[in-house]
Amino acid sequence: MNSKIRMKNMTLDQLQYCVINEGEKRFRARQLIKWIYQKRVCSFDQMNNIPKTVRQKLSEKYSLEKMNPVYVKESAYGDAVKFGFTLIESNHIVESVLLYDGKRRTACISSQLGCALGCVFCRTAAMGFIRNLTQEEIVGQLTGINDYLNEKNDKLITNVVFMGMGEALSNFENFRKSLEIIMHEETFNIGGRRITVSTAGVIPSIEKLMNENLNVGLAISLNAYTNEKRNSLMPVNRKYPIESLVKIAGKFFEKTGRRVTFEYVVIDGENDTVHAVDGLYKLLNGLPCKINLIPVNPSDDSKLRAPSDKKLKDFADQLHARGLTVTIRKSRGQDILGACGQLAGSINKSVSGFQ
Ligand code: SF4
Repeated sequence: MNSKIRMKNMTLDQLQYCVINEGEKRFRARQLIKWIYQKRVCSFDQMNNIPKTVRQKLSEKYSLEKMNPVYVKESAYGDAVKFGFTLIESNHIVESVLLYDGKRRTACISSQLGCALGCVFCRTAAMGFIRNLTQEEIVGQLTGINDYLNEKNDKLITNVVFMGMGEALSNFENFRKSLEIIMHEETFNIGGRRITVSTAGVIPSIEKLMNENLNVGLAISLNAYTNEKRNSLMPVNRKYPIESLVKIAGKFFEKTGRRVTFEYVVIDGENDTVHAVDGLYKLLNGLPCKINLIPVNPSDDSKLRAPSDKKLKDFADQLHARGLTVTIRKSRGQDILGACGQLAGSINKSVSGFQ
């Protein structure tokens, strides 16, 4: 185990404090964060605008180790890439996905190793909850993806969605700290308009998100129009029922001026019927929001199937005809198990000695 302090796990304030503690001026902290997050170096030696004596002093105490991908799987359709990163001082692998959409390069990142919420359509759920990712492990996924894009001479990440493994809002502290880095103009410089966090509907965490004015978009995974159906798909609904989600989505809009997106994983014959159209219309009752239809992604161990393209389009059209704002999310990365609900962790067998 490396006994040095991990500089990438520090908040920007902590980094500034440690630089001052080392007898350096404040601006050194800004130089450091540019090297770490913009140039993505993993050695102080490369920081050629910082005096050698300072670099030497820092390297004796701090580490800049990187979280490198152990695998990178490119979709045959050219619109998605899945990354598996070994976590820090661990042999667990966490997955993230890069999605190409016109000029957008969206990173779909993970926030927990596994997940405690047990949604039936999600492969991550089968792992159970192992642990929260640290700030460094969350941001490290973006650094790894930007390294990949840079090697391809492509533009860097433009958008971030916390829709990978885990419930980001249940790892609130590290989520908040990683946002601070992602949004900072001298690091990734990705504004809140281009960041969305998805939640299964943990109401107190949504309230916290609103109260802390984090200025990011919110997506709520809805997937049903009755509590009975939602209970069967998402056990978290027993604690925070469907009406409370609609209510909090309204409050979110009032407070932030941003419409919540309701993610709706469409399962053939389960939640895409005419009753579902009526049910959703009544449930949402004029609430300013968007519905994003996501055909369920197949997995070997699940009997859930997506509707045909035509059936999905008919369902969208019927919702649209009732005045709802609806989009169909194009499924990317299915062939690399990188689409929604398909991410899952594993163990890096080449790393020993860690749990
Ligand atoms: S869909 Fe999200 S909240 Fe539900 S089990 Fe999967 S990772 Fe957890």
